[in-house]
Amino acid sequence: MRKDFLIFGSPLIGQEEIDEVVATLKSGWIGTGPKTHRFEEEFKQYVRAQHAVAVNSCTAALHLSLITAGVGPGDEVIVPSITFASTANVVVHCGAKVVFADCERATQNIDPEDVRRRITDKTKAIIVVHMAGRSANMGELMAIAKEHHLAVIEDAAHAVETEYKGRKVGTIGDLGCYSFYTTKNLVTAEGGMVVTNNEAYAERIRILSLHGMSADAWKRYGSEGYKHYDVVEAGYKYNMTDIQASLGIHQLARIEKSWQRRAAIWQQYNDELQGLPLILPAPVEKGDRHAYHLYTVLIDTDKTNVTRDEFLNEMTKRNIGTGVHFRPLHLRQYYRRALEHKEGDLPNTEWIGARTASIPLSAKLTDDDVRDVIDAIKGIFA
Ligand SMILES: *Cc1c(COP(=O)(O)O)cnc(C)c1O
Repeated sequence: MRKDFLIFGSPLIGQEEIDEVVATLKSGWIGTGPKTHRFEEEFKQYVRAQHAVAVNSCTAALHLSLITAGVGPGDEVIVPSITFASTANVVVHCGAKVVFADCERATQNIDPEDVRRRITDKTKAIIVVHMAGRSANMGELMAIAKEHHLAVIEDAAHAVETEYKGRKVGTIGDLGCYSFYTTKNLVTAEGGMVVTNNEAYAERIRILSLHGMSADAWKRYGSEGYKHYDVVEAGYKYNMTDIQASLGIHQLARIEKSWQRRAAIWQQYNDELQGLPLILPAPVEKGDRHAYHLYTVLIDTDKTNVTRDEFLNEMTKRNIGTGVHFRPLHLRQYYRRALEHKEGDLPNTEWIGARTASIPLSAKLTDDDVRDVIDAIKGIFA
């Protein structure tokens, strides 16, 4: 058995990141500055968006996107329930009402038909999550949004590399939000990005992300001497720092290489986990590209008595870290109470939630690590 514990979601950090962080620390400027701007420029080129604003989390990106899309008290926002808490929490922060929609079993993405059923005259926006790195059905979702005049905000926390019919997701809706949290495909420890092709949205988000201070307020300590600034809105403290951007610049430079490594691990899991009582990820549609963020298996409870939680415990005993993405959000304490949800409300989401387990998938994994993961899983079902 494996000797040391294999940490789930441990990121690959290169010497380039370490050197850049040290250089930033020695530069005299560690706040939002030139490196953050360089990261924004390079990121927007990578996803082919017109504007990018770096922030300190995807949660912040989602919050500012909702505000910019005009979401406020009295509005409803449709979100999937198979997602991280903050996708819905930000709706509450805006004073709006969360309306959970069910997902499709095969893709684990929000079901356009269920979105349609949940639209009312109060619906203002849809937040789409590209679950595990697989594109949601953007064609259908954008058509629904157009028909009902809804804003579409893409939660692309799993999906920096994801494409839908050759287009990068995050750039298809009105605003796209990314996460650079420590377990994500591109990491800055904590961090996020908003991209949009709407210049006015980008400008407002930049201002809101730094206290509502007039644009480029961070330059006030630069070589041109002190600059006065105005406060044009009651903004937030959501800006990214140059220390974080120092990581991001080099993570981004390596993004395709890291993607290829994960793609190879993905293929090996697909090949070697055949024949076990597991439902493996479905292949993507032709023309789409999976970001390979999470390799989630569904415990096939028709074929085994091992429950999902027993599977997680057995993996821990074998020194392999795991994750759960996600238990249904509509049944977590706060939302269950606030929205009076009960078991059975979102059947596909709950079906997945009871079976899903994520196994390690990081460019940092060695061939031996991958072998250990596969052997551990085979051992559990032997
Ligand atoms: C991680 C995650 C977030 C939140 O990202 P942070 O950068 O930690 O704020 C939002 N949505 C999804 C789907 C996530 O997985």
